[in-house]
Amino acid sequence: MTEKKLLFEQGPIRPPNEARSLLLRVTRNCPWNQCLFCPVYKKEKFSLRSTGEVKDDIRTAREAADDIKALSWRLGYSGSVNNEVVRYIFEDPGYSEAYRSIAAWLYYGTGACFLQDADNLILRTPDLVEILEFLRKTFPEITRVTTYSRSRTIVRKSLESLIRIRNAGLDRVHVGMESGYNPVLKFIRKGVTAEQHIEAGKRIIEAGLELSEYVMPGLGGQSMWKEHAVETAKVLNQINPHFIRIRSLRIPERAPLFRNLKDGSFSMQTDDMLVEEIRLFIETLDGISSTVTSDHIMNLLEEVSGKFPEDRDKMLGVIKKYQGLSESERLIYRVGRRGGLYSSTDDLTRDPAAFGKIEALVQEVSEKDGVDGVERLIAQMVDRYI
Ligand code: SF4
Repeated sequence: MTEKKLLFEQGPIRPPNEARSLLLRVTRNCPWNQCLFCPVYKKEKFSLRSTGEVKDDIRTAREAADDIKALSWRLGYSGSVNNEVVRYIFEDPGYSEAYRSIAAWLYYGTGACFLQDADNLILRTPDLVEILEFLRKTFPEITRVTTYSRSRTIVRKSLESLIRIRNAGLDRVHVGMESGYNPVLKFIRKGVTAEQHIEAGKRIIEAGLELSEYVMPGLGGQSMWKEHAVETAKVLNQINPHFIRIRSLRIPERAPLFRNLKDGSFSMQTDDMLVEEIRLFIETLDGISSTVTSDHIMNLLEEVSGKFPEDRDKMLGVIKKYQGLSESERLIYRVGRRGGLYSSTDDLTRDPAAFGKIEALVQEVSEKDGVDGVERLIAQMVDRYI
């Protein structure tokens, strides 16, 4: 089958809300690659891809999309990419991952496209414009194009360049702000200051692009958590991004910060401490109209989400409800959440059988290995997702 040979390059990660987007790799890896908490590209070297190479990939993705629709016609589904068509492709080991990803994208019909990898605004403006224009012409059905970038890179782009990039077809930029507190930014080697985050964020918005800022509760550890929460919220108050995305810190062994954890120079916040930190963060957000999301699996309370200012009290209510649980209920909730059974504290009362099973598991582990054993179990469960 000719379509099985259709291959194009895709990078290793995308934001959680881009899980159903068409993924195209525009640069490889991260040009900075020094953030202590980040394991993603550490052994990889950054490289630009040529416009010709990226355009070839876009052409190949187009061919794959057309092949899949033709397959649907052959199977009798009139071009619709439905369950049967997707199953046909996924059950055949001959199809490439990239090809399958196009089938999934057509199946979900989001119209969204995410440009990988870590910092695509680093491309020369004419090159990025050429890629975006070609993408929009080749895939007229695309409704939104998003990419990652760094504040340090954005402040080096003029407003005029960003407007050209927006006019060529980029809609949204995700920025890993992580913190708005300079000592934390310095400690984690983000390579950017709070002031640069503000300047970059404002310029993206002024250029008419949507801005999504990622923040990382826990990055201040136990020594700087308060300043981290308050100063990060204050920086966001000045930017007023369209989206604030919460992604709580976890430290896999392959992240450089793991060494600090082991030598005692960094102490992680516990889950309960993190909840208190996020409460302070939400309480300090003020005068903004951003949408907050906690859709990352690392977050304990994914219901801390909504639009400012109207949903502020609802978000704080979710936190208060967790904090009002007894110690054993909080432990059961944490095990249920990290095990993938719970997504809300309401789940504790929704399914008594599941509650009973988790309670028995917690009891068994704590009798055998003590409270530390339960904490280890929770850590193992959550770290599966990293
Ligand atoms: S800029 Fe982003 S991808 Fe690069 S090292 Fe930092 S967190 Fe990782």
